[in-house]
Amino acid sequence: MLLRPLLLALGLSTVATAAFAEPVKVVASFSILGDMVANVGGDHIALTTLVGPDGDAHVFQPSPRDAKAVAGADLVIISGLGFEGWMERLTEAAAYKGKVVVASTGVTPREMAAEEEGHEEHAEEGHDHHDHGNVDPHAWQDLSNGLRYVDNIAAGLIAADPANEADYRAHAAAYRAKLEALDAKVKAAIAALPAERRKIITSHDAFGYFAAAYGLEVLAPQGVSTESEASAKGVALLIQQIKETKAPAVFLENVTDPRLIAQIARETGAHIGGTLYSDALSGASGDASTYIAMFEHNVAMLTAALGS
Ligand SMILES: [Zn+2]
Repeated sequence: MLLRPLLLALGLSTVATAAFAEPVKVVASFSILGDMVANVGGDHIALTTLVGPDGDAHVFQPSPRDAKAVAGADLVIISGLGFEGWMERLTEAAAYKGKVVVASTGVTPREMAAEEEGHEEHAEEGHDHHDHGNVDPHAWQDLSNGLRYVDNIAAGLIAADPANEADYRAHAAAYRAKLEALDAKVKAAIAALPAERRKIITSHDAFGYFAAAYGLEVLAPQGVSTESEASAKGVALLIQQIKETKAPAVFLENVTDPRLIAQIARETGAHIGGTLYSDALSGASGDASTYIAMFEHNVAMLTAALGS
């Protein structure tokens, strides 16, 4: 904490900031969460995000560089609900002894019924239906859950850096207000779509919280993780459902292989409604470089493709 004033006194730093304390070193697990953390932390934190833009956190393999970032962190923030299955091993490998804030704490988890999942491992005898594999981790796709993330992130930063509590509270309040306004906009936009066209068809089941919050139905052959392949039976069933219900569009995702959805589009005649951002933001110059921009982009794609 005393290093910066010393450097300033010696004329070794030209950084003119109001706060002289070192920024809190925060590691966030993936890009969407990282953007929320940046909004709450502002200038008081130095943020490292492990799974970057367009990256797939389900199948992420941490590098030695990631372990180094975690080893040097003051605070680690994850989404939780089984999304970052690799984090425990990473904090152990890095001998990280600090706190791990679980941003989804307090969210009502979406439990997956076995028949909702796109893969067939549940036919195995003795399968535990309450293991974490049956919880949908994509809680950030409901903005009211996003508000809980903001509260948990703020509480974690305040505990790590109590001197800047007032700023963290102010940043969180300003960001919350933006998310609440966006939530109202999303609700109105989806409610304006014809009820029978409110369907999200994507390759992996990442929009369950979104659909429950905003009143759509999700059909996805691949289940809630990209780790498992879609089964042939699941894909055939989905193709039949799309034909029967005359679903107007299918959507690509920025984190999954587009070939499965392209095949489904070919076989059903549904058109491809665009790319939805599910588990990662776009790069800085892309369509969805922030949590808020991601929602705006996804809702624009859905309303354009599903509107009458
Ligand atoms: Zn996912």
